[in-house]
Amino acid sequence: MAATMNVPSPAPVATAFLEDAASLLGPRGFTTDPERMDAWLTDWRGRYTGRALALASPASTQDVAALVKLCAAHGVPIVPQGGNSGMAGGATPDDSGAAIILSLRRMDAIRSLDAAAGQVVCEAGVILQHLHDAADAAGMRFPLTLGGKGSATIGGLISTNAGGTQVLRHGTMRAQVLGLEAVLANGAVFDALTPLKKDNRGFDLKQLLIGSEGTLGIVTAATLRLLPAPIGRVTAWAGLASITDARSLLRRVGRDMGEALEGFEVVPAHCLDSVLALLPAARAPLGERHAWNALIECVSASADSTTLRERLEASLAGAIEDDLFQDAVIAANDRQAEDFWTLRDSISAAERAIGPAMQHDISVPVERMPEFILAASPAIEAEFPGTRAVAFGHLGDGNVHFHVLAPAGAVRGEWEEGAGKAVSARVYDMVCEWGGSISAEHGIGQMKVGELARLHDPVALSLMRSVKQALDPAGLLNPGKLVITPPVACT
Ligand SMILES: Cc1cc2nc3c(=O)[nH]c(=O)nc-3n(C[C@H](O)[C@H](O)[C@H](O)COP(=O)(O)OP(=O)(O)OC[C@H]3O[C@@H](n4cnc5c(N)ncnc54)[C@H](O)[C@@H]3O)c2cc1C
Repeated sequence: MAATMNVPSPAPVATAFLEDAASLLGPRGFTTDPERMDAWLTDWRGRYTGRALALASPASTQDVAALVKLCAAHGVPIVPQGGNSGMAGGATPDDSGAAIILSLRRMDAIRSLDAAAGQVVCEAGVILQHLHDAADAAGMRFPLTLGGKGSATIGGLISTNAGGTQVLRHGTMRAQVLGLEAVLANGAVFDALTPLKKDNRGFDLKQLLIGSEGTLGIVTAATLRLLPAPIGRVTAWAGLASITDARSLLRRVGRDMGEALEGFEVVPAHCLDSVLALLPAARAPLGERHAWNALIECVSASADSTTLRERLEASLAGAIEDDLFQDAVIAANDRQAEDFWTLRDSISAAERAIGPAMQHDISVPVERMPEFILAASPAIEAEFPGTRAVAFGHLGDGNVHFHVLAPAGAVRGEWEEGAGKAVSARVYDMVCEWGGSISAEHGIGQMKVGELARLHDPVALSLMRSVKQALDPAGLLNPGKLVITPPVACT
């Protein structure tokens, strides 16, 4: 196998590995061609670019297991990758060129779907949108969605314990996983795909793998829960004067709608402006510009969607009497509801188009989020002149994406590595002071690995390192991500 511009000259051990892996996976499943690898060497945000020894794309669990055994024998590090839509650089290799990217994208079969049981068995490479389509065709739904649904895969969603816009009602990915199949660092296949409602045979090992960002095993398949398709859906867009009003509205609608309330997202005026600039065909839902907007979605399993609409209308009528918001519109049909969601789901892309920014996916207790935003935004802007802090997202989960936009004229790439890092450290310090988490849903990846080591509870960190050491003693699974295992002293 010839050396390439992206691949360092292989050492003898790498040459032997490359030959064995190429013959194991064949030309469709294994390449060192720089052109075929290029798109997968940079993360979605364009923050990190690495190099890889090769791109491996096995088509079955058995091939993943054989490849991982080969990597273990040759000491070749593995960076698992799904749709490469992750926000923390977790799927991007470092720049040593020593690791392979192990893409699960060819493993994209839905092995079975049982509507009566409310279960689907998916391979790791199934794209979230395809799962939604398959569930829909069976009169069911998969109750997790997010803006990256056109590329995010089931394996990636499980490995990051992804959240999204329905966590308020249905929980994160962890709550959707009923069973799991994974290949461990030694190539053994951990088969816990069969869903058991009750099973007390000790540790729930699948839960350990969920959210482990490819550092403990390669997820190859999962059994996921499905729910009956909603029959009624009502989506509203409200304009508000303040983020504290948004919390009051959340409380009010939550009280009035109960379990029907599925999503409550906040969008500040700046983010809506950015989206409208990015999508020329999009329209603001309300005539006036409001300091804050709330996107509210209620869903019902019963056929009577008029009642659902009437209930939301009544709730909003009470809320406007109490001055909790300034204006609102309820989507007239599914198309308009989708248009509202497109505005929300396009914020990340719109912010990316504006220029350099530091993104912080943070959570604090739900009740404290407005005060956090009101305290942190001016503090950061004062401490780092020229920056602008914007917070948007999942208010109902106490999770916002707290983005700090660089001062005008800042150079992309340079600012993030310099002043931007100081901004992030300050934001994370404040989040910890408020009792929050520096990663609510995107994971740690390589982006926050240093900050996790700096700020996380030492006892928790030590447990994480012990687990990593036990499951991946050679440190070949996604090195440099999530948890860095210090050298273990010989005793
Ligand atoms: C526009 C947009 C909006 C988004 N909105 C949200 C949101 O609201 N909530 C949210 O949580 N995320 C969101 N994301 C982030 C992203 O979609 C999720 O992190 C998703 O889970 C990543 O899936 P992926 O297949 O792209 O994984 P990748 O990006 O390829 O990988 C992510 C991590 O998982 C590991 N990994 C991937 N596949 C496997 C596997 N099979 N086995 C073991 N490890 C694996 C990788 O090594 C890496 O550490 C958004 C992304 C975009 C682009």
